[in-house]
Amino acid sequence: MSAARALNCSTCTNSTPDFLCEVCGAAFCLACIVGTHHAAHPFHRIQTWTGYRINPSQLGLRLRLGHNAGAQCPHPVFLQDFPIITVGGVVRMDIVFCGCAGAPSQFEQLMEASLLPSAVVNPVAAVEFGVVWSINSIFLANDGS
Ligand SMILES: [Zn+2]
Ligand SMILES: [Zn+2]
Ligand SMILES: [Zn+2]
Repeated sequence: MSAARALNCSTCTNSTPDFLCEVCGAAFCLACIVGTHHAAHPFHRIQTWTGYRINPSQLGLRLRLGHNAGAQCPHPVFLQDFPIITVGGVVRMDIVFCGCAGAPSQFEQLMEASLLPSAVVNPVAAVEFGVVWSINSIFLANDGS
């Protein structure tokens, strides 16, 4: 399929879009993909107009856990290029855990962000809750009647 390149960013409508969200099917400029779109859909898969798939970590996007949105943790613990299995495929993202005294475990912080970690201690990947639900509904569908 050969979609014509959109002329405008779908959000601000006045910049040349350089990115395409595979899930939304919409075009975005860098400012909007990093700002508006990422805030609403942190795990969507993104590609450039040349068809090169990029990860949120390559755009400098980070998932901050343990504090309210936008708040910076004074004792951050970084995890780079953490694979997250989403409905649209695997995205790699830099995760910033809260390392404050009395903070929940990394497992709990991921669960809080609707991500199911691969292990309780030192998880190497996480699955988005939406993927878990759709697997469950497949089982339920095959189970009944
Ligand atoms: Zn824009
Ligand atoms: Zn999207
Ligand atoms: Zn903190």
